[in-house]
Amino acid sequence: MPDALSHRIETRRDALIALTQALIRIPTLNPPGQHYREICDLLQARLAARGFDTTLIRAEGAPGDSDRYPRWNLVARHEGPRPGPCVHFNSHHDVVELGAGWTRDPFAADLEGDRIYGRGACDMKGGLAASVIAVEAFLDQHPGYCGAIELSATADEETGGYGGVAHLAQQGWFAPERVQHVIIPEPLDKHRICLGHRGGWWAEIETKGEIAHGSMPFLGDCAVRHMGAVLSAFEEHLFPAMAQRRTDMPVVPEGARSSTMNINSIHGGQPDHHDGLPAHCVPDSCRIVIDRRFLMEETVEGVRAEIVALLEDLKTRRPDFDYELRELNRVLPSMTDRTAPVVTTVAAAITEMLGVDPSYVASPGSYDQKHIDRIGRLKNCIAYGPGVLELAHKPDEWIGVTDMLDSARVMGRSLEKILLA
Ligand SMILES: [Zn+2]
Repeated sequence: MPDALSHRIETRRDALIALTQALIRIPTLNPPGQHYREICDLLQARLAARGFDTTLIRAEGAPGDSDRYPRWNLVARHEGPRPGPCVHFNSHHDVVELGAGWTRDPFAADLEGDRIYGRGACDMKGGLAASVIAVEAFLDQHPGYCGAIELSATADEETGGYGGVAHLAQQGWFAPERVQHVIIPEPLDKHRICLGHRGGWWAEIETKGEIAHGSMPFLGDCAVRHMGAVLSAFEEHLFPAMAQRRTDMPVVPEGARSSTMNINSIHGGQPDHHDGLPAHCVPDSCRIVIDRRFLMEETVEGVRAEIVALLEDLKTRRPDFDYELRELNRVLPSMTDRTAPVVTTVAAAITEMLGVDPSYVASPGSYDQKHIDRIGRLKNCIAYGPGVLELAHKPDEWIGVTDMLDSARVMGRSLEKILLA
C-alpha cells in the first residue's frame, strides 16, 4: 500500500509524460542558446496557475547574452501558510547540440514503452519535469505545509552557467536567508546522491618561434618542435604524476578519481583550412588548449604552478624556448558534506521509497553546484535526479518514465521530511 503522496504522484503519470514531452519539443539548443524565453514562459504559466510567485530574469551582459539570444531564467516561489525552510529545485533548461547518429527525431519526444526519446530527455528535462510533478503533488497533499518551495529553470549550464545559475547567485537568489536546501535534478540515477564535482582549469599555451623559408629551417625557429618538447614533458612528468594522485571524493567513473588532463586542441603554423598548397614557412607560433581536471585535495594555484614549472624548466634546458600561458577559465571543486541536512534527508527518502541504500558519488565534470557554493555561499546542495548519466549528450538520449516517477516520489518524500512540522 503506497503512501498518499506516492499515490498522488503515480496518478500523475500521464501529466508527467506530457510535461516532459512539451519541454523536449522546445529545442533549447546551446549554443547558440535559443528558445529560452519559450521554455520559461511554458513553466511560468503552469506554476503561476498553481499559486507560485514567478520571476523571469534575463542575464543581461552575461557571456552569450544578446538581443537575438537572450539568456532567460525563471524562478518560481511558493510560500506555505506557515514559516519554515525553503527547498529549491534547480534545473537547467538548455541542451547540447545533436551530433550525428540519431535514429529518432530528437525533438519529437516520442514515447516508446517506458522511454521518452529526445535531446535533453535525460539531461535534464526529465529531471525538471519530475521535480515539477513532485512539487505539484506535494502542494495538493499538504496545503498547510511550513516554509517555501522554489523551482528554477536556468540557462547555459552546458556552457558554464554564467548566464544562468551564476547570474542568479550574483543577484542573491541563492542567499542563505532565502534558500536553505538545493536539489539539482541532474541525471545521476535515482539511487545515487551526487555530493559535488571536481575542479577544472583551462589554459592556452603558446610556444614561440621565428618564421623563415621552409627549405632552410635552420634559419628560423620552429614553434611546433618547441610544442613537441612541451608535450614530451607532459608525457614524461605530468601525466604520471597526475595518475598517482587519488581523491577521497567518491567520483564516478573510477578513472576520474585521479587528476586528469585533456589536450583539447593543437594548432601551429598556417591555417589548416585553405585551398591550394601551403607556402613554405617555418611556423613562428604553436598553441594548445588544455583542460585540466583537479581534485579536492589539489589547489588551482598548485595545478597552474606545476605546469608553469615544466615550462620554465624547458626554458633553461632548450635553446630559444619561449612561451606564453593564458588562463581561460577556472572552476573550483565543490563537495557537500555527507552529514548536510539535504543529503541525510534525500538518503532516507531513497531508502523509504525505493527500498535500497543510496550510494554517494561525485561528478568528474562540474555542474551548477559550483555557483551555488562559491557565489551563493550555500553548502547544503546536491544533485539528485532520474536518468542514466552515460546517456547525457549522446544520440538517442532517453529518460525512463518509471525512473522519473520513482525519483519524483523521493523528491516528494524529501519535501515532507523538511517542510512538515
Ligand atoms: Zn545537465
